[in-house]
Amino acid sequence: MEKAFSNYEVWFVTGAQLLYGGDAVIAVDAHSNEMVAGLNNSGKLPVKVVYKGTANSSKEVESIFKAANNDEKCVGVITWMHTFSPAKMWIHGLQQLKKPLMHFHTQFNKEIPWDTMDMDFMNLNQSAHGDREFGHICTRMRIRRKVVVGYWKDEETLHKIAVWMRVCAGWADSQDMLILRFGDQMNNVAVTDGDKVEAEERLGYHVDYCPVSELMSYQSKVTDDEVDALVKIYFKEYDHDASLEDKSTEAYKKVWNSAKAELALRAILKDKGAKGFTTNFDDLGQTDGSHFDQIPGLASQRLMAEGYGFGAEGDWKSAALCRTVWVMNQGLPNGCSFLEDYTLNFDGANSAILQSHMLEICPLIASSKPRLEVHFLGIGIRKSETARLVFTSKTGMGCTATVIDLGNRFRLIVNDVKCIEPKPLPKLPVASALWIPMPNFEVGAGAWILAGGTHHSCFSYDLTSEYWEDYAEIAGIEMVHINKDTTISCFKKELRMNEIYYMLNKALC
Ligand code: MN
Repeated sequence: MEKAFSNYEVWFVTGAQLLYGGDAVIAVDAHSNEMVAGLNNSGKLPVKVVYKGTANSSKEVESIFKAANNDEKCVGVITWMHTFSPAKMWIHGLQQLKKPLMHFHTQFNKEIPWDTMDMDFMNLNQSAHGDREFGHICTRMRIRRKVVVGYWKDEETLHKIAVWMRVCAGWADSQDMLILRFGDQMNNVAVTDGDKVEAEERLGYHVDYCPVSELMSYQSKVTDDEVDALVKIYFKEYDHDASLEDKSTEAYKKVWNSAKAELALRAILKDKGAKGFTTNFDDLGQTDGSHFDQIPGLASQRLMAEGYGFGAEGDWKSAALCRTVWVMNQGLPNGCSFLEDYTLNFDGANSAILQSHMLEICPLIASSKPRLEVHFLGIGIRKSETARLVFTSKTGMGCTATVIDLGNRFRLIVNDVKCIEPKPLPKLPVASALWIPMPNFEVGAGAWILAGGTHHSCFSYDLTSEYWEDYAEIAGIEMVHINKDTTISCFKKELRMNEIYYMLNKALC
């Protein structure tokens, strides 16, 4: 966990004022240091907290926030008011601040020291009203932020901060994210398309087209030795029929070519500094030169597990979100994946959606060791025997998310889902999950469709809707959350109200 976020830090700024004299300033500083040390030593926070001192004036606030903007390691700023801190002194700084903000409403002392409390104590410990003054100016200035309320040593409080930190890390990661598209969108598909200019302005990532011929030039440079070595890793890492290792077979050749495709893809992604990619099954290179002899599904599965965002059929929005999910999910136990609503299973209260894709599901969600298999795949420009990892997902609660382009804004759609035990699929050897969208199939799927949601989404067992709420807040995009309490009539009202809100609030469109 520490390793994943070791390049990042979150700054902690305490608000106070000089009204209460030098002793109070010294005490505020000492308490802040103790709190920051406590946060860091709790073992519950994935990103290091760095105390940046007490701000007592407008100039000091502005200087700290400008420094935060310019510091690459700083992914977010936490503010906390120890004493009353007249909020006009925060105006100029807040106008400047570009990093995500978390306002921490806590207090140094846990309980009121009834017997000893005097006016000196009250001059120092004023978070109860100081944080409200700060909250007011944030609201008046329409500053987007997360407000965390709770005692700073409590587990639930630390969890809320940890969630926000992971989102800050994902957000920072997406600000220099490059997504490469090998081939264009699948022709005529609406939902996977969108405004790439707006995506860069609003969400941070840059999306480039990369000719498949350039990818093929990387494949030409891959050596046989490299491929042999990778194939050995496959056989070591995944269950497989012993016959698959027979070098004289077509199946072995397909595995070997898959490994070559993986090496080519990884090499070009590394070279270009890309964090994600999309493919198009109708564009696999020309057969008269270097080309992919099959859809690079196995490569996509493995690259996803390594952290490369993936979107099928040119779906760059899913590729980018998939990468962000992977970053936020670092160090959490149950994994994440790109998924597609594949087919429905009507079964009363257990009606569910099989989640899969023709190949590209991330093995991080597998319930047990994936199995390497080769089967015919009759889709795309090169219908062929194709290597893939086959597995079923873990069971349990999770959350899936997608971003759509509504023409005037992006909408983040989030659905809590329950992964249940699937039945075997002897004739459909693909990786899959089976889930019931909350609150049930009819309402969950109905709300998702009314919201305009994609058939692709980015799923995680570990990231709850709280992560997505923080993400939407930082990005300044609409979020709708389909959960156990959703009803269609309320959800429709929410969509209609949001339409008006975003129409009036041009800054967010
Ligand atoms: Mn698809």
